[in-house]
Amino acid sequence: MNQFTCDVRLNFLDASQKTKLSKKFRNPNSKVMPHELVVSLRVKLPQAYAVVIALGSSGLCSNRLLIYHNCSEASVGSIPFGIGFPTLPWICRECGESIEDYNEMSFDVIAVAKEPIEFV
Ligand SMILES: [Zn+2]
Repeated sequence: MNQFTCDVRLNFLDASQKTKLSKKFRNPNSKVMPHELVVSLRVKLPQAYAVVIALGSSGLCSNRLLIYHNCSEASVGSIPFGIGFPTLPWICRECGESIEDYNEMSFDVIAVAKEPIEFV
């Protein structure tokens, strides 16, 4: 069990929110997206992104950049977060289209925990 200390970057989290986060990251390979944290922790979206980015930069999570194409509601691919955007043209695995314009895509980030995390 890894411990993640919610320092000054995440000083908006109270004890009950840390408990909820610890439950979310109870299992290895737990995954969390910012919009889920908005609902479960009742935080604002920028704060939810702050949690996900802090987890990635701590090394406890390997964050992924999720790739969305206008052919699907679900993500159609992902690359490691922090290396920029996918190289164009990019082949959509859902519809097979060769995408040559970022305007056809949208992006989000997901935190993937390597091991269980306890938030303190
Ligand atoms: Zn597509």
